[in-house]
Amino acid sequence: MASVSFDHVWRRFGPHTAVADLCLDIADGDFLVLLGASGCGKTTSLRMLAGLDEPSEGEIRIDGRVVNKVPPGERDVAMVFQSYALFPHMTVEGNLTFGPRMRRENKAATRARIAEVAQTLELTPLLGRRPAELSGGQRQRVALGRALLREPKLFLMDEPLSNLDAALRGQMRAEIVSLHRRLGITTAYVTHDQVEAMTMATRIAIMFEGRLHQAGKPAAIFDDPASLRVATFIGAPQMNIVDGQVLQADGVTMLACLGTTCRPAEGLVLRAPAGSPVRIGIRPGDIAFSPPHPGAAGFSGAVEFLEPMGSETFATMRCGRETVVVRAPGRTPLRLGERVTLYLDGRFTYAFDAEDGRALI
Ligand code: ATP
Repeated sequence: MASVSFDHVWRRFGPHTAVADLCLDIADGDFLVLLGASGCGKTTSLRMLAGLDEPSEGEIRIDGRVVNKVPPGERDVAMVFQSYALFPHMTVEGNLTFGPRMRRENKAATRARIAEVAQTLELTPLLGRRPAELSGGQRQRVALGRALLREPKLFLMDEPLSNLDAALRGQMRAEIVSLHRRLGITTAYVTHDQVEAMTMATRIAIMFEGRLHQAGKPAAIFDDPASLRVATFIGAPQMNIVDGQVLQADGVTMLACLGTTCRPAEGLVLRAPAGSPVRIGIRPGDIAFSPPHPGAAGFSGAVEFLEPMGSETFATMRCGRETVVVRAPGRTPLRLGERVTLYLDGRFTYAFDAEDGRALI
């Protein structure tokens, strides 16, 4: 097991900055997910940690030792790529055996481990096939199996599940998490999929355009996003953002939006003076069809679009100039065009600076 530290790491490609001043610690045993949209610098960060690329500036440390100049083979890391990087002329079994054979590991023990890993990854019936005879998902499972067999002190994964179908992806997510719990190997995992990040990570680091915007436990990032950008990146369907204003009435700070007002949770400090225009964030699950408390003020919305998902329905509602998505229970009887009264619970609303998007609560 290992701890990792990125200390003011930059990576420039000519005039383009792929990673800017990255400061990030990964604790021993953590499952850190680097999350962000395509091109934000996740893969470059992971490649620098693997030793496949070198920082232009700054230091990367594994267990306190600066590894900037240490070749990949001497870092004791195993990496699983989006592309599978399998030997095409070897069978699945050959691909799995290759590493342990090169490391001169005990043959009987290797056979037993391969059988175990093949079973975990549902590869047993495929051991005699070559990569060309496998689906993309099956190839990725072989690549995962090969990395698992190394039992490295650091596990690096770059979108390992992106080529799997939805059902297998869900299953593999659970398997990788349970494997991590069992083995406790420090893992850095790159994805643009916030569901993967939320369900797998012990910590998430969220990047935009080469810069780290927030790092923390999944629940903390979901509940306390540092900015409007982070808030709208985490959570599906994404957080509704509407125009609003800070009001001060009888010494009580309120938020006004959607033609109604709500009161932030007691004790929360709103870092904006009364009268300021703000952007207000409300998650689709936090808009209700019934009052959250007696006397709560409602607002009116017309059903514009319905997405029935079975156990829940996402309803797009037109509320004056704004449109919001509401998560309703699956059997909520809603009809297109119907006008309904909706309610906000101020305890679950977010406020962001209208100019720079930083969180104000
Ligand atoms: P994706 O999810 O699409 O893989 P990413 O977040 O992993 O994206 P990176 O692959 O790290 O992003 O790329 C970050 C930026 O650096 C991108 O704009 C990319 O075009 C650029 N980049 C990456 N590698 C190189 C390179 N070798 N030469 C020039 N530019 C590069």
